[in-house]
Amino acid sequence: MKGAIRGNPELTRKINQRLVLNLVKKYGPISRAELSTKSGLSAPTVSSIVEQLVSERFIAEVGLGSSQGGRRPVLLTLDDQYHCLLGVNITPMKVSVALTNLNFDILARHESKIDVKISKDQLIHLIHQEIQVLFEQSSVPKKRILGIGVSSPGQINQAEGKVNVSHSLPNWKNAPVVSLLEERWGIPASLEHNVKAMALRELWYGAGSLERNFIIMKIGYGIGAGIVINGQIFRGATGNSGELGHTKIQEHGPVCRCGSTGCYESLADLHSLETRMKDRNPDFDGNYEDVFRLYEEGDDRAKDAIADTATYLARGIVNLIHLFNLPLILIGGEIVPYWNHMAPYVLKILDRNTLNTLRESVKVQPIHTEEDAEVQGAAAVVFDKEFRLSV
Ligand SMILES: [Zn+2]
Repeated sequence: MKGAIRGNPELTRKINQRLVLNLVKKYGPISRAELSTKSGLSAPTVSSIVEQLVSERFIAEVGLGSSQGGRRPVLLTLDDQYHCLLGVNITPMKVSVALTNLNFDILARHESKIDVKISKDQLIHLIHQEIQVLFEQSSVPKKRILGIGVSSPGQINQAEGKVNVSHSLPNWKNAPVVSLLEERWGIPASLEHNVKAMALRELWYGAGSLERNFIIMKIGYGIGAGIVINGQIFRGATGNSGELGHTKIQEHGPVCRCGSTGCYESLADLHSLETRMKDRNPDFDGNYEDVFRLYEEGDDRAKDAIADTATYLARGIVNLIHLFNLPLILIGGEIVPYWNHMAPYVLKILDRNTLNTLRESVKVQPIHTEEDAEVQGAAAVVFDKEFRLSV
């Protein structure tokens, strides 16, 4: 992770601070001497940066390491006792809020169910209410909160901090969520698309935390992708990269919720799985979970529906592998608990349809689901602002 630069002294110091912070996160407990070796920064520079980061409560001294012939070195880790991240996760079903420390441990959480037809004003009111509950539960003072991260579906204007439009929450449009939160709570806020927030969680905490180049696919009702290159989200010109679900894979295919036809998600998401099951069994009245349950019970029609859906799902993954040649594709979203049913079909097609050198160098694996993963993703939006190497 060498990256020390020279130039504008203030910027240089900021970047070097981030470098040290990242090394402490990655390798801690770690000594000042090891930080100097790994960063390429001089010992006095490291000492000065460490002193500042300790005083700002970003890192903490946690004891002594083993002696390399002289005095035993003081070891450093992230300080998880002071700064907090406040995550707000919005889905068509619920609003969840959580307070975490810098290790993403949940200190307090709360959530409320919503109806997809909820008005914009009601939703904003509810978000404020949930945050209020969180403060009452946790008694963490506001000054210890680094920021509020909001993870939302829809098309996001990140520069203006607002949600432009969301297919899944029809009244959630032109919502200036960042300015409303900052005015009400006096805490810096930032907004991120929910799939990109998931990617940030994986980057800083989850399965991708050892990997700085990966794509995460969120597969549920709809399919989105978060693209991480060199430890940063790839956003595209307007911040709307990763609309994988609306890439075209079939002429005259089914009508998609975006209004177009033959979109990837209309052929490969969990809704399409349900449709295929109904085509095979007109009496079927369940959802995708029921399809997987029937599969577990040995139902051949469920098996066919899953295998067919996997064929289309694999097509998109094959394209991603060829396009990006990244070492890791993570599978997230509602499919995760059932991925082991889908994976054998998908992987077989990947093996058959991907160029050897590309196939051999990529792992396709599900993320570890934890109850709080999505709201941790919202918290990771704040974490990323404080820790990412580009400032
Ligand atoms: Zn579409």
